[in-house]
Amino acid sequence: VNEFQLIAQLAPTLATAPHLIVGAGDDCAVIDVGLAAHWLLFKTDAVVESVHFEAEADPAQVGHKALARALSDVAAMAGEPLSALITLALPDRFSTAWVQAAYQGLNRLARKHSVSIAGGETTRSPGPTLLSVAVVGRVAKDRCLLRSGGQPGDALFVTGELGGSLQGRHLTFQPRLAEAQWLARHGSIHAMIDLSDGLAGDLRHILDASGVGAELRAASIPIARAAKNAARAGSAAKPPLLAALTDGEDFELLFSAAAADAVGLLDAWKNRFPNLRLTCIGKLTTQPGLRLRDHQGVRTLDRTGYAHFAKPSS
Ligand SMILES: [Mg+2]
Repeated sequence: VNEFQLIAQLAPTLATAPHLIVGAGDDCAVIDVGLAAHWLLFKTDAVVESVHFEAEADPAQVGHKALARALSDVAAMAGEPLSALITLALPDRFSTAWVQAAYQGLNRLARKHSVSIAGGETTRSPGPTLLSVAVVGRVAKDRCLLRSGGQPGDALFVTGELGGSLQGRHLTFQPRLAEAQWLARHGSIHAMIDLSDGLAGDLRHILDASGVGAELRAASIPIARAAKNAARAGSAAKPPLLAALTDGEDFELLFSAAAADAVGLLDAWKNRFPNLRLTCIGKLTTQPGLRLRDHQGVRTLDRTGYAHFAKPSS
């Protein structure tokens, strides 16, 4: 049983109540707390030593990453983060300087987005260091973007560039909060997610939730320099396109929008965010499944994933 299968088993058993608008299965929980125009967003996320960061990593960057991951999920709903609680589990022989530096990273990113750090919990860990962040935020009820809103014919977009994040970017990425809020105001955006597990895997979450399929254009997928450089240097475990599809930890936004708005959206984006790429990478389809079109034709990316892609039948 992998992580996603475990979540699928647990999700139907979770306690619920009428105030829960969206529970497990989207980037944040959406809760009706009785406000006229807004819903509450609620998210928790953890980073673990040797899983999400190495022991030698800059602790300020580890703190940054821990909060940035949760803020990225608030961005994926087009929400505005408000406040965070920090849970820190430390091994017996912890370094006070490490903890102080981690909090510097947390505080710096929190201040940048006007997020308060409202407290938390510190405990001992018999294993590695764990840093968990719970965030609350809010979103206007008519602007909240879910994974389930995708429609056949929608154009698919991604911000930034993908692949090779683990070569450094994963510790310093910026959650796309302003960008997501702008998108919710300026485009006919139907579904959105942030890219934590890789384009191919995260797009599947939109497809499953929306009951649609997708076709990606291989030549359009924006590949990060880190992934290209690794391939050039011969140090890459996979070709750059495959890295962009499957590496994960990109923390860019993936969304679908009405195709009729695609050109206007790209133009307006270029004016508002000239330093961040926005790329149309394909479309949502009535035909289920995930397909990749390249110069050889169209092939299927199946559930067992990129092995299928790595050994094309053609
Ligand atoms: Mg997410």
